[in-house]
Amino acid sequence: MTRYALDYDLSDWRGWLAGNGFPLYRAGQIYNWICQKGVVAPKEFTNLSQPLRERLENEFNWKLPEVDSALESKDGSSKILVKTEDGLLIEMVVMSYESRVTLCLSSQVGCRMGCTFCQTGKMGLKRNLSSGEILAQIIIANRHLGSKRVSNVVFMGMGEPLDNYDHVVKACRAMIDPDGFGLSKSRVTVSTSGLVPEIQKLGADLPVRLAISLHNADDEKRSRLMPVNRKYPLAELKKALLDYPAPKRYGITFEYVLIEGVNDSIADAKKLVRFLHGLKAKVNLIPLNHFPGVQMKASESESIRNFQSYLSERSIPAPVRYSRGQDVSGGCGQLAAKREKEIDLDPRVLHRQRRRAGRL
Ligand code: SF4
Repeated sequence: MTRYALDYDLSDWRGWLAGNGFPLYRAGQIYNWICQKGVVAPKEFTNLSQPLRERLENEFNWKLPEVDSALESKDGSSKILVKTEDGLLIEMVVMSYESRVTLCLSSQVGCRMGCTFCQTGKMGLKRNLSSGEILAQIIIANRHLGSKRVSNVVFMGMGEPLDNYDHVVKACRAMIDPDGFGLSKSRVTVSTSGLVPEIQKLGADLPVRLAISLHNADDEKRSRLMPVNRKYPLAELKKALLDYPAPKRYGITFEYVLIEGVNDSIADAKKLVRFLHGLKAKVNLIPLNHFPGVQMKASESESIRNFQSYLSERSIPAPVRYSRGQDVSGGCGQLAAKREKEIDLDPRVLHRQRRRAGRL
């Protein structure tokens, strides 16, 4: 099978060059074309010799995932749906602010964690993305941006990043490598539903910023929303977070989707404050982004205000964040699910599927 060029980091390139009789310093040049310049076509690597360019062209797959659609939201964010080489859809969201551009990217196609409020969770896991497929999303976003560049990355698109640990960590290393994408370590955030052993491992391997999808600080209620809590209950999660070497300035971010009558009462807020005791924490309050087939609703404005005040009065920063790009299916997995349905309904696709199934 042809190797995917974007899966190669600097030391992989050095290894390949050494094994093929080319000078090692070429590794930095190849890596620079890919990560810094976003050029993924060896024939354009003008500072390389012709024989090396030909070998690279012939021995590696250089294709970026294809952009299926890009939707511009009124709030200035862009939702980009890309298709992997095997025809699977993944989502990314590019959010431009005055002083930064944040890319919310995907780490898996689908997700197996099964959180009940999440459209991606409904899809189940189709497969992990490789490190190169994760990094390709930065290159695609930079091309989409034109003169601006991605400055911050958050793993909050499709998938549970720590369920794809090796590829995610390899991609993070390339992101913060000054010879790679050159992002600051404090500008890369991995978000997890709470895989305790992998949080501990990440703390030892590459302590980037950490965000926790918490959504409830009561074990029974959280287990109903997020099955992962049955395996790693709150006490275990808390212990792992206390040990995590989070950057002092930022601490740990908690994502808390506010769902009417489920987790938005003052009693819920009290439990949350108790859970956060001893941690430097910021809580992003996110009113649920409703999607078809789910009975749950976003909390009323008054409950959101009360919940937020309760946290703020106890010195816990708790901004209310609305999912960016709501008018273009902003919630994670929503656009991919919608597009998959359209593709399913496309007569040409139906015809192909039926032919494959021997019904035509
Ligand atoms: S919220 Fe995150 S971890 Fe949970 S199902 Fe959705 S993508 Fe997976």
